[in-house]
Amino acid sequence: MSQETANLEQSRLRIEELKQLLNKYNHQYYVLDEPTVPDVEYDRLMQALISIEEANPELKTIDSPSQKVGGQALKAFSQVRHQLPMLSLDNVFDLADFQAFVKRIKDRLATNDKIRFCAEPKLDGLAVSLRYEDGVLVQAATRGDGSVGENITENIRTIKSIPLKLIGELGKDFPHVVEVRGEVFMPKASFDSLNEQAKKRGEKVFANPRNAAAGSLRQLDSKITAKRNLAFYAYSLGFVGEYNSDTEQASDLIQSFFSNSHYQRLCQIKALGLPMCPEVRLLESEHDCEAFYQDILQKRDSLSYEIDGTVLKVDDIAQQAILGFVARAPRWATAYKFPAQEELTLVEGVEFQV
Ligand code: NAD
Repeated sequence: MSQETANLEQSRLRIEELKQLLNKYNHQYYVLDEPTVPDVEYDRLMQALISIEEANPELKTIDSPSQKVGGQALKAFSQVRHQLPMLSLDNVFDLADFQAFVKRIKDRLATNDKIRFCAEPKLDGLAVSLRYEDGVLVQAATRGDGSVGENITENIRTIKSIPLKLIGELGKDFPHVVEVRGEVFMPKASFDSLNEQAKKRGEKVFANPRNAAAGSLRQLDSKITAKRNLAFYAYSLGFVGEYNSDTEQASDLIQSFFSNSHYQRLCQIKALGLPMCPEVRLLESEHDCEAFYQDILQKRDSLSYEIDGTVLKVDDIAQQAILGFVARAPRWATAYKFPAQEELTLVEGVEFQV
């Protein structure tokens, strides 16, 4: 066997090993809401998989965890097929990575002009899609595997900050169907008191507010969800259009009502009565993104909810459309993640140093 073939075989075996581990961790995290390793360990394994796949493209398969979004929807819930997929986000971990991301964007847009960004905290909860028909909340779904999510409408109705009916004069141009996407999360104070009560009763505690939010939202009994004090911030539109329209017709409708700026769209969604994170900012150029990141990092502990980074999105919707998507994430956005915190994380009663 040549050295080259031996190296390829070694990479193949390592890829198989990483895929198996990551698939197991995905199932524990997304389906069971019970992670057994800290996120930094998961991220480290995922980065290892991505770099071996990049070095050996012939070993990359479409079923690889690096190409997939989230986990399978729980069968206990009825399933919802998303009219527009709910994707994940690519990550950058430092300024050099972020600059490389901006360079890729400018190359694709064939421009040297400054890029305007909508800058948002990366909320540590779970993504949901809320479907309003003629202004009334008719359905809510989790992201699931990005194509099919869980129908959690009854549980969403228990979250006080999510309007059952949009507010204001919707007018005759208002699209019949408007999906709003955002993050359901558990504020830190609610998480602490939930775990304290669980400890007193000798019950299982949640590893972190993200798992507590996911576990609380995916309850078969919505009375339990109602007691969990969940919150929501909107961060994008999903499908917008007629009841049965296809995506192309829908895009004309979106443009006649919603702004061509992502940030302004969030303001419009807010005006309809949905909560928007107060830290969201419109930045005039990519050069302002690092200062936003540092500012949010510094505020992190004083915020009442958990975040694990910032999300930087190209603001111009026309530019977003040119940039498009890759398998599991848009090309026009990235999560600029915070470094792992030096603290002990409790996962299933086992302490992990992260
Ligand atoms: P992600 O959390 O890295 O990014 C995508 C998600 O970010 C979106 O789906 C949305 O829910 C959320 N988000 C928060 N704020 C947002 C905003 N302002 N705009 C848009 N989206 C926003 O991706 P993911 O695929 O959900 O999860 C991957 C991460 O989950 C990993 O990096 C790892 O940290 C963790 N994970 C951990 C384990 C484990 O076993 N510990 C297993 C699987 C995943």
